[in-house]
Amino acid sequence: MKVEILTSYQELKELGDNSKYSIHQVSWWLLKYGDLYKKVFQSYNKLCDTCLKRRAENLYITCFLKQVNCNKIPEYQEFIKFYNELDVVTELYKLEEKCYMAYDEYMTFLCIDEDLRDWVIKYYDLYSKIGVHFYTFLMFNSDGIKTLHISDAPDESFGVIIREDDFKSSVRFYDVYFDLYENKKLYPEKLKEWDEIFSKIPSEKKDL
Ligand SMILES: [Zn+2]
Repeated sequence: MKVEILTSYQELKELGDNSKYSIHQVSWWLLKYGDLYKKVFQSYNKLCDTCLKRRAENLYITCFLKQVNCNKIPEYQEFIKFYNELDVVTELYKLEEKCYMAYDEYMTFLCIDEDLRDWVIKYYDLYSKIGVHFYTFLMFNSDGIKTLHISDAPDESFGVIIREDDFKSSVRFYDVYFDLYENKKLYPEKLKEWDEIFSKIPSEKKDL
């Protein structure tokens, strides 16, 4: 399976234009290698005899460090991670239409704070699904460029960047929502909820 994995990377690499892809190219690759993903996933999650023994004795499974007999092969783990990262994008793409409608609605407002607040509350659910992803994807950009950096191939020979055109509405929605929610704080109750959740996470520094 290691060879098949390398072949799949090579094919994706050749498909791109300087690491730039359309969402349809990524979907095509995911579909083509979906069966390989299932095989790798099953194999990776199947414990080898040494692992089974260690687990039976309540020991931490470490045999993937010595890969001779173990199924916990790093190349498998990397492939699973990479495939999942690309798969997230196809899930996000399903929300593009919703983002289009939300942004369209936003554009009809005359910037009356009360209307904007209602809009922020109404679309919080949508933002909570896409926000963290777009934050990460757009992080690598500068100078107002909005390409979506999705992932890097495990062998680091190429990256996967999705052109903005495919996520035009999502990016617009994300930008205005982020500003109203994070900067202008039009939905402070929600921010407070999150603060409370974070404050309950024990800080490592405090324990030292
Ligand atoms: Zn093992």
